[in-house]
Amino acid sequence: MERRGSNLPRVGDYNQLLVLDLVRSSEHISRVELSQRTGLSGQTVSNIVRRLVDAGLIEEAGRAAADTGARRTMFRVVPQGQYSVGLHIDPARMTLVLLNLAGEVEDRASIATPFTDGPEDVLEAIVGAVTELVRSRKIPLHRISGLGVSTPGPIMADSVVGPPNLRGWGVVRLRDELENRTGLPVVLEKDTIAAATGELWAGGGSLANFAFIYLGTGIGAGIVLGGEVMRGASDNLGEIGHLSGDPDGPRCYCGGRGCIAITCAPVHLVSAAVEAGILPRVNVEDHLAVEKSLGRLCALAGEGDERAQAIVDKSARGIARAAGKLANVLDLDTVVLGGPNWSALSPSYLRVAPPITASLLTVRDVHTVDVRGTALGEDGGAIGAASLVMSTMASARSEHLLLSPRRMQ
Ligand SMILES: [Zn+2]
Repeated sequence: MERRGSNLPRVGDYNQLLVLDLVRSSEHISRVELSQRTGLSGQTVSNIVRRLVDAGLIEEAGRAAADTGARRTMFRVVPQGQYSVGLHIDPARMTLVLLNLAGEVEDRASIATPFTDGPEDVLEAIVGAVTELVRSRKIPLHRISGLGVSTPGPIMADSVVGPPNLRGWGVVRLRDELENRTGLPVVLEKDTIAAATGELWAGGGSLANFAFIYLGTGIGAGIVLGGEVMRGASDNLGEIGHLSGDPDGPRCYCGGRGCIAITCAPVHLVSAAVEAGILPRVNVEDHLAVEKSLGRLCALAGEGDERAQAIVDKSARGIARAAGKLANVLDLDTVVLGGPNWSALSPSYLRVAPPITASLLTVRDVHTVDVRGTALGEDGGAIGAASLVMSTMASARSEHLLLSPRRMQ
């Protein structure tokens, strides 16, 4: 359902956000259409449109004939009018994207996540990378609406609480720390939820009931039902690690057997390959080294090494079974696979997983379940985080811009 506006004056920011969002998602749109779709009065829409034009966020895009015979002025977004930065923190690697107002990625960067105890080195690396990305494109700071951060959970309010794959983190007030150090407003989101958000927007309305299964150092899921990203009681929805992917698998500390957290995560595939003599030994606490070893294992599988193929395919079967369970519980028609390890895993997973997940669907006489790879590539989490900050802050920042037009740098 489309969001509706309010004509009360104090909700001006929210209305401006609605109007900007609609212009962003349309190729071009008139004041009359904006008024019809938001429920705002013609006068309110005219005022907002004028403010957005003055702020350089939207512009006139010619005139089009209306049903009445009158010609209406059309508006479209100015891509370079506003930017947001998306950051995805994976324990192995951090990815950054610079997204413009039209939702296009203008630049990206990827750096190794510092492999040290505690968050200090990671925070410093983030600040350095964000600064470099913005400076290299010569974008004035006031044109950056904010920094969206996609992080491993669990999260609580504006903090990350002891993420299992980030050593020595404990409770880190990530939002405050990054706001203070970058000077940008920061939005914090769990990685799986950010990835699902990115996928939902990239789908342009074609996906409404799906799970995004995130394959990184850890495994989690983001869930979208009825076109809405689900969040749960504490924004931590999607802990699927203890779904079983193998009823005959090893006993897990949770009491189950063959949980995907202890059988399908990269460290388990790499350990199995080392054990079998396929890969050289690796420090399993060094997430980037594990990620590289996983890439090597998948490459060997692709070259026809049967033992490598067996290890990767087994993990694909595990994920496929877990995906089938999710599809049954939530009545999903699509499962999207993605995350930092997706390009390495995709040849095996796209061959093995779809028929298994489809065969497990209890309601398969009613509808099917489509298992597919992400539309956003490995930057999905960062793009999702950047989209989120754009939709929540672009408008509020532009208002601020109009009130104090001085440059912040
Ligand atoms: Zn378990």
